[in-house]
Amino acid sequence: MRFLDKVALITGAGRGIGKAIAERLAEEGAKVAICDIDRELVEKTAEEIRNRYQTQALAIYADVAKEEMVNAMVDEVIKTFGKVDILVNNAGITKDNLLLRMSEEDWDKVIAVDLKSVFLCTKAVIKYMIRQRYGRIVNISSVIGLRGNVGQTNYGAAKAGLIGFTKSAARELAGRNITVNAVAPGYITTEMTERLPQEVKEEMLKQVPLGRPGKPEDVAGVVAFLCSDDASYITGEIIRVDGGMAM
Ligand code: NAD
Repeated sequence: MRFLDKVALITGAGRGIGKAIAERLAEEGAKVAICDIDRELVEKTAEEIRNRYQTQALAIYADVAKEEMVNAMVDEVIKTFGKVDILVNNAGITKDNLLLRMSEEDWDKVIAVDLKSVFLCTKAVIKYMIRQRYGRIVNISSVIGLRGNVGQTNYGAAKAGLIGFTKSAARELAGRNITVNAVAPGYITTEMTERLPQEVKEEMLKQVPLGRPGKPEDVAGVVAFLCSDDASYITGEIIRVDGGMAM
């Protein structure tokens, strides 16, 4: 039970990788606050976590790209649990298109949800983490932020931006015993990747030395490690969870 007495906030945790992270932290004793832009989904997931892991799970409806909603979300976490120890910035979207065809709207939307949200959520929690001189922040980037991909200039820019954010925040917050790290998943089976055409999925799989897509649990285990005491001397690090895809 590595996270007994810890409070974790995980964004975009109604399903997919975020849900797996929330479940893993809850399984190891954390009280979890999970947020999602899909109200019904996040309530259902919180109910599942409460039943399965006998821990507290708070569901929050929020759009992490909106400052007012993010601040209200963190206020609710503090009101409910009295503190926040762990933040996992997981919420993310894709709006793929070739650069020549990409609209300004799709550029702005991906940058807002995948990058600006991380600034907003991190800013909102660190005042509490600084006061308690403890915090663990994990940002979910992507191998696309490391190596790029056709049709994903908006997503690649946001996910690469997250890496710069992670390293700068890690330096800024290190003196307060707050670590900031990122995980860069490769091809993980979730609704985000299930939507892709079959031939794109087959092509991606050919690039994975381990020969299989990852599971959300593969990412969750690494996030849990980064939030644990075993990782207390790791900050500003980017860990790929990609079956070797981007080595
Ligand atoms: P997903 O689409 O299955 O889940 C994302 C969740 O985020 C959904 O529940 C969605 O409702 C929520 N969300 C979307 N916009 C939001 C907003 N504005 N505010 C709050 N919640 C919002 O995706 P996933 O595959 O689980 O991806 C999770 C994270 O992992 C994303 O940041 C994604 O970019 C990253 N990632 C995924 C893969 C992959 O292969 N699946 C690979 C690399 C990185």
